[in-house]
Amino acid sequence: MKKRLRILSADVDAAEKKLCFNLEIDGRPEILWYKTTDEYAEYFCSELCDGVVISFIPFAIRNKMDIESDIPITDQLYFKLTKNLIPALKLRNPEIDLQIIATPICVKQNNNAVATGMSCGIDSFATLYEYSGENCPNEYRINLLTYFNVGAHHGQIDYDNGHVSHELFLEEMENTKRFCKEYNYPLLVVDTNVAAIQKMNFVPTHSYRNIGTAVIFQKLIKTYLYSSGITVDYFKVDINDAAGYYDILSLENFSSSNIRIMSSHPASTRIEKTESVAQFPPSYNSLSVCLNSSKNCGLCHKCERTLATLYALGCLDKFKNSFDIDAFLKNKHKWQAELLAKRNDKYCLEIRRLFKKNNIKFSVRARIYVIPFFISALMERAVKKIKWELSKRR
Ligand SMILES: [Zn+2]
Repeated sequence: MKKRLRILSADVDAAEKKLCFNLEIDGRPEILWYKTTDEYAEYFCSELCDGVVISFIPFAIRNKMDIESDIPITDQLYFKLTKNLIPALKLRNPEIDLQIIATPICVKQNNNAVATGMSCGIDSFATLYEYSGENCPNEYRINLLTYFNVGAHHGQIDYDNGHVSHELFLEEMENTKRFCKEYNYPLLVVDTNVAAIQKMNFVPTHSYRNIGTAVIFQKLIKTYLYSSGITVDYFKVDINDAAGYYDILSLENFSSSNIRIMSSHPASTRIEKTESVAQFPPSYNSLSVCLNSSKNCGLCHKCERTLATLYALGCLDKFKNSFDIDAFLKNKHKWQAELLAKRNDKYCLEIRRLFKKNNIKFSVRARIYVIPFFISALMERAVKKIKWELSKRR
């Protein structure tokens, strides 16, 4: 008999502000929980399995399981998943054989929040800039920010080190809380063990886990804007690759008349988003992009590419409270050499184009420092060629 992930029941623990789903994963009992704060516990949706089904699609596919729920599913979601999304996933991976077994029902929610995730990074601030500006229709105007612990922090320092991950979640949350307090945004914080149960890489699962969590709050959230990390011209549907490649397809199929999920700025490059953020004063003291810490280290590749873009845009000074600008400028020959050396890196290419467009010259020392990079790349290529020639002779 085929393996099953069963969703048996759901209970809200009002005192703990916790929603627990009792699961059975291939016969093994598990409790999937979502925990929030006082003001949001009343919005838990325990009557529908929608959020759990969405969150566990990649997990069920990887483990060759069906999903069976004793809790009903929203009829529109069921229809879209089974008629559109799962068949689309099968096109690239024909071995996929996922059945969703649940009773579809029609429920009407009375919700009004327009929400987006706020990590204080480039994507979040670019979304907030676009969906809070003068030209934004009221229907799309953000009035709630969210912070979900669904696994992003697991990939940042040490995927297997739950302690470090949780510390990062808490540290970064403090930054987001400070920002929300300063700019008067309500903040929905949700902690969950979804990543601990799934034990899967975050990249192919991030849209599923984030949207699954938003959908659990469909009594509150009417529209959820999901910041896109990959532009639509890279569109491809592959369950084993980054979920962001096909957000434009999956988000529509996670939507129902109760909660609409929209991709935010799906056509903007990282450079264009950074340009938007540089025009958004609320971001100046709170921008946080670092891979290593809740305080920007200035050295990891995410810090460096953000700083290099701001440098090329002439906007570094605006972010002097978020980064050590002096240290970055002192080090400019080194990071500029890296930008020149990483010839095939998409982000480095975009930043080099921005340098050219804004007529910014690379330093002479950077051009000298890049020589060892090129020599080592040439040697690597030569060694590969010799090995290939030798293998042909054998
Ligand atoms: Zn960093």
